[in-house]
Amino acid sequence: MSTSDDSDSNTSSRSVSEEVESEIEDDFGVVGGLVEPYRFEPIAPEDYEEPEEEEDEDGLTPAILEARSENQITLDTWCECGNCSTELLSNALEFRCCKEVAAAMAKLTFEGIEGSCVLDHTDFDALTNATVLEQVCPLLKDRKGRSYKFPSRGTQNAKNESYRATAYRFLVRWIFGPLGWNNSRPLPACIYHKIRQKFQTASTRGYSSAERRQGEASAR
Ligand SMILES: [Zn+2]
Ligand SMILES: [Zn+2]
Repeated sequence: MSTSDDSDSNTSSRSVSEEVESEIEDDFGVVGGLVEPYRFEPIAPEDYEEPEEEEDEDGLTPAILEARSENQITLDTWCECGNCSTELLSNALEFRCCKEVAAAMAKLTFEGIEGSCVLDHTDFDALTNATVLEQVCPLLKDRKGRSYKFPSRGTQNAKNESYRATAYRFLVRWIFGPLGWNNSRPLPACIYHKIRQKFQTASTRGYSSAERRQGEASAR
């Protein structure tokens, strides 16, 4: 299925949903029947280079995240919530503790919930319940308002891929609110670990920033 912009000319059946784009949850990505959480981030120009020491929204630099992913900075020194694990993480951007993500901690403090990890939030299990995610999945829309379809008749692996992708988007929105199409944020390691442990798949596609995807594309 083509997803390029110039494929729009013969997609009249979708024009109705395009009209209501602004009224719907428009920060969810849908392509080819699989939710792709980071699909619609802007592509950086080819000569763009991320400044090495620039801190991200959580105050972490690429060098720190890289050192964590290489285990030069060990888990016990950066995880303060007690639930992060590096076992199922797939790239450096995921090596952050929920204690370092202010919006995740705010979910606990603003709602008066006792706990030292965002996983302790009383809503977390409900938000990542398989039946809930199956219901949420078709509510996710892509940029053009197309709905995502849960692979009800697919393999368990296909279902788990969908559970994961739906959960990522659902939780990003839960923690950070609507970010719009051109933004995304990595979730904390404890959340990635929990979701990937719960919904096991043959391979893990990790968080990928627009810059990183561009780099991977041009390296092929
Ligand atoms: Zn942690
Ligand atoms: Zn945590």
